[in-house]
Amino acid sequence: MKVIVAEKCGFCHGVKNAISIAEKVLALEDDVYSLGSIIHNKDMVERLAQAGLKTVSQVEQIQSGTVLIRSHGAAPQQIAKLKEKGVNIVDATCVLVKRVQHIAEEFERDGYKVVIIGDENHPEIQAVMGCVKDAVVIADESDLHKLPEDARLGIVCQTTQSPEHFGRMLGAIGRCRFKELKVINTLCEEAIKRQQSAVQLCKQVDVMFVLGGMESANTRRLADLCKKENSETFHLQNWNGLDRKAIFGKDIAGVTAGASTPEWIIDEFVKNLEAIDSSGG
Ligand code: SF4
Repeated sequence: MKVIVAEKCGFCHGVKNAISIAEKVLALEDDVYSLGSIIHNKDMVERLAQAGLKTVSQVEQIQSGTVLIRSHGAAPQQIAKLKEKGVNIVDATCVLVKRVQHIAEEFERDGYKVVIIGDENHPEIQAVMGCVKDAVVIADESDLHKLPEDARLGIVCQTTQSPEHFGRMLGAIGRCRFKELKVINTLCEEAIKRQQSAVQLCKQVDVMFVLGGMESANTRRLADLCKKENSETFHLQNWNGLDRKAIFGKDIAGVTAGASTPEWIIDEFVKNLEAIDSSGG
C-alpha cells in the first residue's frame, strides 16, 4: 500500500525536552517520579517505566527522591507541597505552557478576569488554573454563560487548540457583554503546523491514520480536524489498533501523529502498512 507521512508530525520540542530530561535523570538516579504521565502517550510512558520512572497521580504518593514536572506543568500549590517534602524537583514543563501560566498571572495582577479557552479537565489547564485565584474555563459556545457580565476579560487559550476554534470563540465572546477584552495568543506554533500538514494530507488520501495517545489533546485535535475533511480517518494508539477493514480496497494511506507520539511508533506503523496488499484486505 502506498503511504504518505505528513510533513510535520510526531514529537514537538516541548515533548522532546521532557523525554530527554527524564532519560538523563533516570540514568543518574533510582527513585524518580513523574507527577502524572510525563507525556500523553502510553507507549512512551511504559518505556520510561521500564527504565525506572514511577508515575503517580498525587503529590501525597511521593515521599522521597526526584520528581519530574511533566510537559503540561503543575499547579504552584503542588510544587509548594513537594518543596515542603524536601524532594528534588526537576521541571520539564514546556516553555509555551509556562508562558500561558505567566500571562494568566499577569492578567489577574492587572485586574482582569482570567478566561481560558480550553478543556478544564486537561492537566495543562488545571495547572494554569492553579496559578490564579479565579479563572473561567470555556470549552465551547455552551460555556459562554460562565462569563461575568461587564467585566474586564483577559483571554488565553490552551496551547493545542486550533486557530479556527480560538477565532470562533473570540468572535462569540466578542458578542457578549464586557467592559474590556484583552487577548493574548497562546496557541502553540508546532501544534498548528501539525494540524495544517495533517489537514492538507488527509484531502489527498483514501484513508487517514492519526497515531497517538487517546488522552492526548493535540492528537485528538488532529483526528477531529482530519475527520471533517476525510471521513475515513482513524485515531489509533499504534499498529496493534489497526482494523484491516479500514484499508480494504484503499490505495493511498496518509499517516500523521500527535506531538507526543514517538518516532518508533510512526516508523513501525508506516513500515507495516507499506508491506500490506490492501486489495486483498
Ligand atoms: S505541543 Fe507545543 S505547547 Fe505542547 S508540549 Fe509541544 S511545544 Fe509545548
